[in-house]
Amino acid sequence: MAIHTADLLDYLDGLLAPGQFKDYAPNGLQVEGTGTVSHLVAGVTASQALIDAAIERNADALLVHHGYFWRNESSPLVGIKKNRIKALLAHDINLIAYHLPLDCHEQLGNNAQLGQLMGWQSDAHMQSSGVTGLGLCATLQQACSGQQIQQQLSHVLGREALHIDASGTVIKRIGWCTGGAQGMIEQAVELGLDAYVSGEISESTVHIARENGIHYFAAGHHATERYGAKALAAHLQQALDITCEFVDIDSPA
Ligand SMILES: [Zn+2]
Repeated sequence: MAIHTADLLDYLDGLLAPGQFKDYAPNGLQVEGTGTVSHLVAGVTASQALIDAAIERNADALLVHHGYFWRNESSPLVGIKKNRIKALLAHDINLIAYHLPLDCHEQLGNNAQLGQLMGWQSDAHMQSSGVTGLGLCATLQQACSGQQIQQQLSHVLGREALHIDASGTVIKRIGWCTGGAQGMIEQAVELGLDAYVSGEISESTVHIARENGIHYFAAGHHATERYGAKALAAHLQQALDITCEFVDIDSPA
C-alpha cells in the first residue's frame, strides 16, 4: 500500500499535535521528497548513516526525532549538512521530524515508552519550559535501591547507566525525562522524588544529586530516545498499511 505524502503528514499532525508545542526545530516535513510513501524508515537522528540505511532500503520517507534546522544552528548548507540534504534530495526521500511532540505523546512518546519498558506507571507530569508532559513521575510498586534501578535500566536499554548514588535514599517515587533533560533534576528535587532519570549528565548534576540526596541516572540520550520513533513506526504500519521499519544507528551518547 502507498499513501500520499500530504495525507501521511496530515495524519502525523493529527496524532502528534505539533501546534501545541513551542519547539526548537520545525516539526513535520523538513525536506520534501516524493509525493507518495509506501516504505518509511524511522530512526532517532537524521545522521548520514541513517540516510544511507534509508537509501539502501529504497525508503520514500525518513521519520526521525532529531531532524535539522535547530534554533541557533548555523544556516548555510555546507559540510555534513550539505551531504545529508543532497543525499535526501537525490533519492527523493521525504525527511519528517517530530521533536517535542514525540517526547510527550501519551502512548507513543519517548517518555511514555521508557515508562512502559521499565514498568513504571506514570501518574503525574513534570514540566519544562512551559511544556507539560516533557517528563513523567511514578510510584514504584516495590521500593528499590539505586543499584536495582541502575541494573534494570542497563539491562532494558542495553547500555550501562551512570548512577549518582544517594546512599540511604530508598526509591519509591521516581521521575524521568528522556534525552538531554538533566537540568530538570531541580524540579525532581522540588517534587520530592527519590530518583530522577534522564539521558545525559552535566558536571553540576552530580553535585545537585549528592547534596539533595536524590539518585540520578544518566541512561543515554540515544538509548532513552529510541523507543518513540520505534513505537510510532509500528503504529503507522498498522494504521496506514504502509511498510515501516525502525533502524537503530547506535550511539554511545
Ligand atoms: Zn533528544
